[in-house]
Amino acid sequence: TSVTGVQTCALPIYVAFERGEGPYLFTEDGRRFLDFGSGIAVNSLGHCHPALIQTLSEQSEKLWHCSNLYRIPKQEKLAGILTANSFADSVFFCNSGAEAVEAGLKLVRKFQSHSGHPERFRVITFAGSFHGRTLTTISAAANDAHKAGFGPMVDGFDIVPFGNLEEARAAVTKETAAILVEPIQGEGGIRPAEKAFLADLRKLCDEFGLLLFFDEVQTGIGRTGHLFAHQAADVMPDVIAIAKGLGGGFPVGACLASEKAAAGMTAGTHGSTFGGNPLAMAVACKVLDIILEEALLKKCVELGVELRTRIKQCYQNYPNLVEEVRGAGLMVGIKAIVPAGELVTAFRDHGLLTVPAGDNVVRLLPPLIIDQNHVDEALEMMSSAFKALT
Ligand code: PLP
Repeated sequence: TSVTGVQTCALPIYVAFERGEGPYLFTEDGRRFLDFGSGIAVNSLGHCHPALIQTLSEQSEKLWHCSNLYRIPKQEKLAGILTANSFADSVFFCNSGAEAVEAGLKLVRKFQSHSGHPERFRVITFAGSFHGRTLTTISAAANDAHKAGFGPMVDGFDIVPFGNLEEARAAVTKETAAILVEPIQGEGGIRPAEKAFLADLRKLCDEFGLLLFFDEVQTGIGRTGHLFAHQAADVMPDVIAIAKGLGGGFPVGACLASEKAAAGMTAGTHGSTFGGNPLAMAVACKVLDIILEEALLKKCVELGVELRTRIKQCYQNYPNLVEEVRGAGLMVGIKAIVPAGELVTAFRDHGLLTVPAGDNVVRLLPPLIIDQNHVDEALEMMSSAFKALT
């Protein structure tokens, strides 16, 4: 357990899976688990979605990799879908969340130097955040366990308490370039930022000429019932990083920015060999087609409300186990009273896969394709697990 309480490897990994189907994972010996972890918010359409299999197979027979030296039509198509459905005007494709955040951090520095402020390079970030495991992204967060032995850290981050506007304001100096924040802290324990806090950060950025950068790697691509979590708060960022659910299991990340914010990022200023490859682009286009066309987002909101309400009703019978349930859409956190790892293990022993997070929280991140029956099934498993724990 790290200083912020994130349990990194406290649980014995005693199970390996052979195959997946929809929201289920199967072991070699045929045991079935209801997967409410989704590879930590990655398998947004569940396992082996037929449309994704078809898309990946078809693309695999045409073209796998092609250098960014040439045009990649599917990259243009995906960028078109993302920009048409967000604040953004331009997109950089990469392969992971950390790379997407890193691209955004380079972008905010470039924006400032391009606008005549090369002295502005620092970024205000928040305690409890998680932005990835590269040297720069561990430097951006306050998790000492992630930093231990890897020093010195990359300079340029001022970490303030999450949700505290006054501390954020006090941290702004002549060297500040941007504010980086997760609309809902995922690894930190499903801790939603107040809508007003996000709106106030926007105002703070406008007041001091800073860029507002949302890390939506975990919250993005429909997880919260909106394509991007910040859309619920109606706060317009300048930059966002996305990954995880975008590829539905195929590795892909992206950094989205407004035209103004991306002004200094001309062709060649940043790059990636694999980023935006035709396989990833084909799959991600299909993921977005499905999420945007099949009214999934509305269903995510409804099922999320139901899931949280019923979990609350369920744990009220066991007041010594759980303190609260929180989150948005299908990004749900159960704040435990007993060690969260014990709940995760008990759920798993009853067939339900969940993920531990910071703040002694158990995360439920089911695939967005679940229906009422899966919610019923999960609640039965949770109820049995609670019973067994008492
Ligand atoms: N940002 C957030 C909010 C995340 O939750 C994660 C991963 O959990 C990352 C960044 C890093 O993503 P990746 O592991 O794909 O590099």
